[in-house]
Amino acid sequence: MATDQEKNKHRLKQVLGKPGNGHCADCGAADPEWASYTLGVFVCQSCSGLHRNIPQISRVKSVLLDPWSSSEVEFMESTGNNAAKVKFEQKVPAFYYQPTHTDCTLLREQWIRARYERSEFVCVERQEPYSAGYREGFLWKRGRDNGQYLRRKFILSEREGILKYFNKHDAREPKAVMKINTLNATFQPTKIGNAHGLQITYLKDNSTRNIFVYHEDGKEMVDWFNAIRAARFHYLQVAFPGAQDADLVSKLTRNYIKEGYMEKTGPKHTEGFKKRWFTMDDRRLMYFKDPLDAYARGEVFIGSKENSYTVLPGLPSSIQGYHWQFGITIVTPDRKFLFTCETEEEQRDWIAAFQSVVNRPMLPQEYAVVAHFSLKLM
Ligand SMILES: [Zn+2]
Repeated sequence: MATDQEKNKHRLKQVLGKPGNGHCADCGAADPEWASYTLGVFVCQSCSGLHRNIPQISRVKSVLLDPWSSSEVEFMESTGNNAAKVKFEQKVPAFYYQPTHTDCTLLREQWIRARYERSEFVCVERQEPYSAGYREGFLWKRGRDNGQYLRRKFILSEREGILKYFNKHDAREPKAVMKINTLNATFQPTKIGNAHGLQITYLKDNSTRNIFVYHEDGKEMVDWFNAIRAARFHYLQVAFPGAQDADLVSKLTRNYIKEGYMEKTGPKHTEGFKKRWFTMDDRRLMYFKDPLDAYARGEVFIGSKENSYTVLPGLPSSIQGYHWQFGITIVTPDRKFLFTCETEEEQRDWIAAFQSVVNRPMLPQEYAVVAHFSLKLM
């Protein structure tokens, strides 16, 4: 005879097999093996750790390892991930960023807190911090020269279409005005060295500028991020009146295709290879002396294979790398760009990243961008 415990476990596994329960309720990772028996959702191990931080709302147990009572199993049976989605995600704004399992802990933690702890997607008035169209507050911003973080006032105005910040609290003129149409924001906890670190980029004279900010309060930082997304969403809705919301949502913010160190040589290929930090952002390949530099030292546009862009492993036979031996050659209509990677794995990853860009046909609006790049030095 099976014990009650065995019967419960068997029933729970059946519940786990029901539609919706095969992926983490919070980040979508496959095959969750943990469950919140107070909220009635199945979650991955990583998200279960975040649920532990809100014990007043959520209690988690392992589906396979922990004992389950009949009433707990019944509760899981009566709820599950699909039902929780209906209950907790009634009014998620289209622009709101819903993290996946590859996103940073902060984004996943705040999504979990927003859903279950703050009920932000049930009570629309709680969405005001990011949906009001205007946001003002202080962020710690990395100083350009000494790398020190200083408290700066930021203002985001959807109506004006800008994000700006001020160096002095009583300053009338902003230190920088960033237009929403070229703005991007991406969480970079590792590169910035802060769990709440956000990289904001914008274009000035078609060159990329970076600023690095954080807020001690994780909610504040994610609210800023979603406020930027909301402002971009409204800007795009006006700019492309016929477009579907889903198409616009995919353009609100973007993570980089790849970042990391490579060595590069100059246009004549005789300059010697130097180690630099590279960022592949959409079709822009940029390099920096320091990963946290405000300006790129150079930017190059990577087109598609239809426009004669090619990525090849290795260097031309006459050229040798300096420290690093794993070469990559990018052929553009104008010239060849030569890079070397420290390891074969890095070489493979960079080639895959470049290849994904080259294989993607160019959009009509991207042709206009090419012209600006024609004389950028690399
Ligand atoms: Zn998860």
